[in-house]
Amino acid sequence: MQTNQTVPHAPDRNTGNGPYERLIIRGVTMIDGTGAPPDGPVDIIVEKNRIKDINQGGLPESALENAHVIEAEGMYIMPGFVDTHAHIGGVNQGVPAEYVHKLWLAHGVTTIRDPGSFNGADWTIYEKERSAKNEIVAPRIYAYTCPRNWDKGFSALTVDSAPEFVNWALEKGFDGFKFINRWDPNVAKAVIAEANNQNLGTMAHLSQTTVARLDALEAARAGLGSIEHWYGLPEALFATKTVQHYPEHYNYSNEYHRFSQSGRIWKQAAAPYSDKWNKVMDELIELDFTMNPTFAIYEATRDAARAQTADYHEEYTMPSLWEYFQPNLNNHGSFFGDWTTKDEIEWKENYRLWMMFVNEFKNRGGRICTGSDSGFIYKTYGFDYIREFELLQEAGFHPLEVIRAATMKGAESLSKENGKPLEFGVIQQDMLADLVLVEENPLKNFKSLYGTGTLKFNPETGQAEKTGGVSYTIKDGIVYDAKELLNDVREMVKEAKITNY
Ligand SMILES: [Zn+2]
Repeated sequence: MQTNQTVPHAPDRNTGNGPYERLIIRGVTMIDGTGAPPDGPVDIIVEKNRIKDINQGGLPESALENAHVIEAEGMYIMPGFVDTHAHIGGVNQGVPAEYVHKLWLAHGVTTIRDPGSFNGADWTIYEKERSAKNEIVAPRIYAYTCPRNWDKGFSALTVDSAPEFVNWALEKGFDGFKFINRWDPNVAKAVIAEANNQNLGTMAHLSQTTVARLDALEAARAGLGSIEHWYGLPEALFATKTVQHYPEHYNYSNEYHRFSQSGRIWKQAAAPYSDKWNKVMDELIELDFTMNPTFAIYEATRDAARAQTADYHEEYTMPSLWEYFQPNLNNHGSFFGDWTTKDEIEWKENYRLWMMFVNEFKNRGGRICTGSDSGFIYKTYGFDYIREFELLQEAGFHPLEVIRAATMKGAESLSKENGKPLEFGVIQQDMLADLVLVEENPLKNFKSLYGTGTLKFNPETGQAEKTGGVSYTIKDGIVYDAKELLNDVREMVKEAKITNY
């Protein structure tokens, strides 16, 4: 561990064009983020950082004068993606912010929420403000803090001092709070109540050390905004027990214990469509609760080899990040030293039950967002955000429902928690110009969104060729060439390999 170091901030913006007085994206097929089907061709008119108009039926040539025009015939456009569970690297991973930001933008991510702001309060707020002014190449940042960042420290946080802590965060420029590790439920509830008073958001990873006293339903009743993964949910669904069936040798601090046993928890919860299962789900929806399943981050548990050998690692995974992923008793999520066939089989079943809940939650009107939590467990920024789309589709989502989760639902969750109107996440007049332009129909194949593209037969040669990848990501009216961003990342990785070895 290199804890005396800090994560390098992103340098001054070194790529991207615009915003333009007038930008016209011409002849494009639009997927607007609401669940509406593709529609086109349309011309999207952007003025500076806002969508001004969406024109159907073709603009006259005169309208194109003095405008920057992107000829987008045959292309698809979506709202910029929102990653609701996105850590901006970390010292232990040895990745600079520029690497992380560019991988996100290269995969269409124009907004992220950093749960916990683990790089420190000042560090994260500096990055957030610089991104808001577009002084760096980065998605817009919603920064959720943890009490560790408070200058008084976690131990000073009590029911009585909760308002002081919340005020500190508000003044600092944070957008909300992240709960993780061991919490006194009364203190957590006091922070949640005060956060809601001040229009700050709340999200939780209800750890095994907290969940015996505070499960997802109780936290939702106290006003919690969302959970990540599922933590606290199977516990709220226990019908024949009150604690998880921990083997007697279990120790939460042992990552292998933690992950092998969490793969066995969903089958301990109430059966799908049982009374208990239905009741808990319906009440969560009634409370307008949000879930960020973040399926992709745990995928290595059901198929370690797949995650370890992903085709992007070679060129896009920083050597220090790769090292962090390797089996190690001290690194979070590096538990593969003892991983077994049985563990993977248990996890496959775990996913099946978890996905069933998430899909039905969506069907009954619940809000599901897309998060990635990359930087752990063989998951690399950007790439494994797209993997989340594939896993939501596997859970039963129509591809349009997936895109809506990634765009409108993510934006809705953030705006709701911050008491603000919706400003992005939907392609519509007056929204911020956060957009993703792609050459292939994403509904047909989400694999086409990976920076490494997907293999496709070329009818002329009969050979399979790599196609796809995002073409342009537009944030705040600034047009980023996604291939150029990927090129920058490959250079950074190459450089790091030369200097590190
Ligand atoms: Zn996380």
